[in-house]
Amino acid sequence: MKKMRLILGDQLNHQHSWFNEKSDNTLYVLMEMRQELEYVTHHIQKVVAFFLAMRSFADHLKRNGHQIIYLQLDAEENNQSLTENLQWLIQRHGIEKFEYQLPDEYRLDEQLKEFCETLDISTEAFDTEHFLTDRSTLADFFKGKKQLLMESFYRMMRKQHEVLMDNGEPVGGKWNYDHENRKKMPEDTYVPQPKAYERDVQEIVDLLHAFEVATIGNIDAQSFIWPVTREEGLDLLNFFLEDCLPYFGAYQDAMTTKGWSLFHSRLSFVMNVKLLSPEEVIRKTEAHWQKNKDIPLSAVEGFIRQILGWREYMRGIYWKYMPDYREENFFNNNRNLPSWYWTGETKMKCLSHAVRQSLDHAYAHHIQRLMVTGNFALLAGVHPDEVDAWYLGIYIDALEWVEITNTRGMSQFADGGIVATKPYVSSANYMHKMSHYCSQCHYDYKKKTGDKACPFNSLYWDFLERNRKELDGNPRMGMIYRVWDKNSTEKKNQIIEQAAKYLDKINEL
Ligand code: FAD
Repeated sequence: MKKMRLILGDQLNHQHSWFNEKSDNTLYVLMEMRQELEYVTHHIQKVVAFFLAMRSFADHLKRNGHQIIYLQLDAEENNQSLTENLQWLIQRHGIEKFEYQLPDEYRLDEQLKEFCETLDISTEAFDTEHFLTDRSTLADFFKGKKQLLMESFYRMMRKQHEVLMDNGEPVGGKWNYDHENRKKMPEDTYVPQPKAYERDVQEIVDLLHAFEVATIGNIDAQSFIWPVTREEGLDLLNFFLEDCLPYFGAYQDAMTTKGWSLFHSRLSFVMNVKLLSPEEVIRKTEAHWQKNKDIPLSAVEGFIRQILGWREYMRGIYWKYMPDYREENFFNNNRNLPSWYWTGETKMKCLSHAVRQSLDHAYAHHIQRLMVTGNFALLAGVHPDEVDAWYLGIYIDALEWVEITNTRGMSQFADGGIVATKPYVSSANYMHKMSHYCSQCHYDYKKKTGDKACPFNSLYWDFLERNRKELDGNPRMGMIYRVWDKNSTEKKNQIIEQAAKYLDKINEL
């Protein structure tokens, strides 16, 4: 029977059981197409990384004796739409069965289900064999529960997969070592240069220009540095384990202008396109620690929690709550994103640094995403659709299942508290405590009102006052409202007026 198997751009799993068999009757199809370039405006480095990773994966399969059809963006026969291309290929090659791997994005899942209904040949969907959980594991685990606490899910995962466990107990006696993490980074800390896999990508950049593909961000076409093959992904993992892991925990939440990825792994892209599996990253990390016990357990546990816990948890939340999740707007926010989210041209040092590095590298680490760009957008009351589109476009690792849950959920609290138990908002105090930004800033982090008062201060209190009805009943917010209420009415009004002034001129901050 002649089969066609679709491989989407984020399904580059070398170890998938599909590839255990070889047959001249099985055609694998990969395609670059406008459909995927236009559902949101992507960072140019993200598009280039996807094309490179897909092309080298197709080469790898060819070298291993598989039959491949690879439609480049400029292929004459490319219709630029997933289903039109599939329809045409099925006819042309006399395909008798169509197979695909379950997409991780809802829109593609729907599109392929609908497409299969139109076919008069048999079809079958397969697991991507990538995640440690399946789509419904989280929903089943929390069935009947009101709160979907990540920490309970994570503990279940640790036990089930025997990760950092010792005779049924967590290694070291505790599940979570976060209180030992999250330190401010001393100014003179040595920060390693991000490991680079340099290649010339001018040809792809020219192709995108020729097709007038709209993109955001910058690229050095002569020296593109992201890993795009499995070998490079494994090499980056080794670099991380050797050079970054020992400091990962302590400086996980630190922010500085001294570097753009600090001690973070930058493995999200290679994991999200499935070149590396979360399981192998976790197992290798644990094995590395077994041989190098001088690495703090807090760093190892903290890193593993992100992947075994947060990454699988977010995927479960996505499949439990989509498609309704993409409509959530708990605070009814409706402002546009300030224009400087696309230029970095703001006098606020934290935001200009986080935005500029996002434009330059298609990357910001978690705390920059959460406590700088995300925090500001929430304090300012930006519509979650706008925030989502920005995050989904700008980051190299942005795929909706992990972007929307982090953005709309964790960062914007637009789901009303499914992912986070309280909004991740802060005044300038947090920025000053965790970063080197404030000493280089035009604004004064100590001032709430008046000349050069840091906008985060008045916007923070304004946010709390504005959303009092929604947040008052939240037990984790009570203390902060009591602090606010200790202010005189006059003081409160001054702060609210300051916030209003800033919001009026938001594009000029
Ligand atoms: P590290 O800090 O080295 O962490 C290791 C790995 O843990 C990451 O590669 C990632 O796979 C996983 N991880 C860490 N935190 C999370 C998390 N909260 N959710 C899921 N996985 C996590 N991550 C994406 O992969 N794609 C996104 O589009 C994305 N959008 C985000 C948007 C916002 C507003 C926020 C606050 C976070 C977002 N994250 C996203 C989560 C996290 O910020 C990134 O995974 C991380 O910054 C990627 O860099 P890294 O590989 O160096 O991570």
